[in-house]
Amino acid sequence: MRIIKLFILFFFVVRLITASDFVDYVNPLMGSQSEFKLSTGNTYPVIGMPWGMNCWTPQTNKMGDGWVYNYNHYQINGFKQTHQPSPWINDYGQFSIMPVTGNKITEKQRESWFSHKSELAKPHYYSVYLADHDIFTEIAPTERAAIFRMTFPENDSSRIVIDAFDKGSFVKVIPSENKIIGYTTRNSGGVPDNFKNYFVIIFDQPFAEYRVWTGNKIIAAKEVADNHVGAVIDFKTRKGQKVHLRVASSFISYEQAELNLKELGDKSFDTIKEQGRKRWNEVLSKIDIEADLDVKRTFYSCLYRSTLFPRKFYEINSAGEVVHYSPYNGEIRSGYMYTDTGFWDTFRALFPLLNLVYPDENIKIQQGLMNTYLESGFMPEWASPGHRDCMVGNNSASVIADAILKDITPDSLHLSLYEAMIKTANDVHPEVSSTGRLGYEYYNTLGYVPYNVGIKENAARTLEYAYNDWCIYQVAKKLNRPAAETELYRTRSKNYSNLFDKSSGLMRGRNKEGDFQAPFNPLKWGDAFTEGNSWHYTWSVFHDIEGLKKLMGGREKFVSMLDSVFAVPPVFDNSYYGFTIHEIREMQIMNMGNYAHGNQPIQHMIYLYNYGGEPWKTQYWVRETMNRMYRPTPDGYCGDEDNGQTSAWYVFSALGFYPVCPGTDQYVIGSPLVNKATIKLSNGKKISITATGNNATNRYIQSMTVNGRKHQANYLDYNQLKRGANINFKMDSIPNKKRGILEKDVPYSMSMLK
Ligand code: CA
Repeated sequence: MRIIKLFILFFFVVRLITASDFVDYVNPLMGSQSEFKLSTGNTYPVIGMPWGMNCWTPQTNKMGDGWVYNYNHYQINGFKQTHQPSPWINDYGQFSIMPVTGNKITEKQRESWFSHKSELAKPHYYSVYLADHDIFTEIAPTERAAIFRMTFPENDSSRIVIDAFDKGSFVKVIPSENKIIGYTTRNSGGVPDNFKNYFVIIFDQPFAEYRVWTGNKIIAAKEVADNHVGAVIDFKTRKGQKVHLRVASSFISYEQAELNLKELGDKSFDTIKEQGRKRWNEVLSKIDIEADLDVKRTFYSCLYRSTLFPRKFYEINSAGEVVHYSPYNGEIRSGYMYTDTGFWDTFRALFPLLNLVYPDENIKIQQGLMNTYLESGFMPEWASPGHRDCMVGNNSASVIADAILKDITPDSLHLSLYEAMIKTANDVHPEVSSTGRLGYEYYNTLGYVPYNVGIKENAARTLEYAYNDWCIYQVAKKLNRPAAETELYRTRSKNYSNLFDKSSGLMRGRNKEGDFQAPFNPLKWGDAFTEGNSWHYTWSVFHDIEGLKKLMGGREKFVSMLDSVFAVPPVFDNSYYGFTIHEIREMQIMNMGNYAHGNQPIQHMIYLYNYGGEPWKTQYWVRETMNRMYRPTPDGYCGDEDNGQTSAWYVFSALGFYPVCPGTDQYVIGSPLVNKATIKLSNGKKISITATGNNATNRYIQSMTVNGRKHQANYLDYNQLKRGANINFKMDSIPNKKRGILEKDVPYSMSMLK
């Protein structure tokens, strides 16, 4: 009896440990083996909390370099508080901390060799052995603070260097409180003039000596403000002596930074670490999968990347109220604010993933969007932290529409968000041309942004505006807007057809006078398109694939055009850029023809075979892409990860479906990579997915059921899933060419009047 009890106890303990260890599958280094000319993710290890405001990363590159951590580098020169969404957008509000031994201050002096074999990167914990200093450093973050634990050798000149970075910084040492405060102003744009990140650092032991520095000069003083300043704190350490630092910062004030420091309280390093682990497990456990170990590692690494952005940019004041520094007008305002995401990327799969699995977070994000409008007069398109001039489209319309149509956004916000969508759709930001709609005057009168009026990437803009108009049209219908208004956006959402060139069967830039651009090379990247060519962008008719099919000449022609994407060799014309941008190189080397999964415009295209009645081709290519383009390794992505978008593609695809058209209530079916999955919805319901007979060979859906009923359609219904559902796939090595082939099996298209 006793033995049995012990055995049962042991069994439960084992179960508890294995059931709560989602975070252990995450590799934050996935995608970090990247550089300017070739991206395998262009990520860095984000050590932080889900959607956390302040994150940390080891820094291997020099200050200001967007490739802050490169897996191929051998030396670390600091641990940086970071808010960087991507190397192309770069960082803001940054400062670093570095323990050393000996008289070292500058990046070059203080850098230390390290090995990935003595490094441990987890979402909630990072540690590394700094060999040149014989110091073991550990970091455990909260949402706005972090605790450091540094284990020193026996040394008379142990030191901690604080680097507040250049372009205007300040430090002040307060020895009586073992404290350093300061600010950094270093940013890469998108901030008002009064922008500062105020930091506070508290040591757990008195300073033997303290000084400040400016440039590379040490000064015996308590404080200094200059272009590039920092502080040095000296200790005499015995072997194994641990020094703890409690660090927090605020975009509002020093006082608020002290309040943010309360996230740590007087908790120990190990308690904070455990707390972080629990929080990550809570978020990652919303999707519990059974799959091969490599798939699990890839899946949870992708789910981690999908739950980092957009970042919180709000703080909790002394009265317990949500407040934020406005990156739009520099004021301290009440309410939520999120940032560090480009909607051109993330409208596609990342926001639909939030809406399905993490709607509570998106409620706050939508409130933040409303605040952005109130503070800047526009919806953001690429925010970091304020409006940044990057990419094209007006895809905030999609981000807002999907949340309203799925009943996630509170009703009280619907009308004001709708009005903000309308304003943003019919205007352009006076200083940031990618905010609002550049070329809206042309688009609203001609039905397209012309090729020959000096607006670059005009065809891409037109196609995205047309889809964005469909999003507005859907919200207008839901809110019972006047018929003329609803009709206007319905009509405009057909504007994609204005760019369809019958002679090539592809989308093509069109001149103001009505003729198409000439010469036209469908393999030319950029120019009329954005980081892609006509073969990639022709499919950007998310809301009306049926209409596109008709333009192309019917089902068979449509499918053969899809086939061609993979059949056309990866030849390219890079003349618009003058060199081979990394996105082109990533297409060229993948052995998938002209399919460019490494960039966003084409990421939904594989799913379009479902609209052509040949779902088995989706099933083939989606597995090919998951198997070959994603690995839980430092070179694990096939191009820029881009703030959760490329990761969310994998998360959805591995589960067996994908949101081709955000704003509809449909997910288009692919081929599940998992053997089983349970999605725990926020309303307490569950979606259970089983893929019977699933393996590497059996990638085709032989048959499937939803809630026990035979399911022939090539899509799943959001409202059905939301009520809880059992989805059963029966997998086979041979395609079932009789399944999903009828007109009624095809997913939503506007032209089908469903
Ligand atoms: Ca990209």
